[in-house]
Amino acid sequence: MKLLNTILDIIFPVNCFSCKEKGALLCIKCLSSSREAERESANWVFPLFDYRDLKIKKAIWLLKYKGKRKLANIFAEIMYGRILEELADLKQLENFNESILIPIPLAPRRQRERGFNQATLICNELVKLDKNVNFNLEKNILIKPKDTEHQARIEDRSKRLKNIIGSFVVKNKELVAGKNIILIDDVTTTGATLNEAKKTLKQAGARKIIAFTIAH
Ligand SMILES: [Zn+2]
Repeated sequence: MKLLNTILDIIFPVNCFSCKEKGALLCIKCLSSSREAERESANWVFPLFDYRDLKIKKAIWLLKYKGKRKLANIFAEIMYGRILEELADLKQLENFNESILIPIPLAPRRQRERGFNQATLICNELVKLDKNVNFNLEKNILIKPKDTEHQARIEDRSKRLKNIIGSFVVKNKELVAGKNIILIDDVTTTGATLNEAKKTLKQAGARKIIAFTIAH
């Protein structure tokens, strides 16, 4: 599939769906000029863009549901800059060192259906950019063993919370004990997923936790 995509890219070069510029499905110029996240998030959560910006909405949809995995690289480039900005302060003020990067996991069925976890794709690229200078990637610490209903399909806020409670498990507690953690997800809506992941990691002994998402 990957090879086929590469071949297709050569035969049919991609254009930015927003400005039509050749090269990437969404160019870095259009992405950088997208609407920044402005809705309030918890003080430990850093979303990059406003999900109401149609460019962002479309790009995330293409990544998750149309398998346009390369979009993860473009998101990661912007996200990496933002992570470094935050880390610069946190390292000095909160002793936020030797951190671990953890993607919000998908439940087994969704992972099978999609064939990939978009948060993991972003993490893979972040690690390439970082070359293990600021953080290490751990893909199998936080897992989501059971299939839950899709959060986005549940309208009622309290049902959303119930749906996600207890859904994460930490596999190797000794790897998170006393560690600083950077969680990565694609979209945060109510923050319920990130809160639950944080709670689970805290119970496993994690030190400080922050999170970055593409959009809110
Ligand atoms: Zn563009």
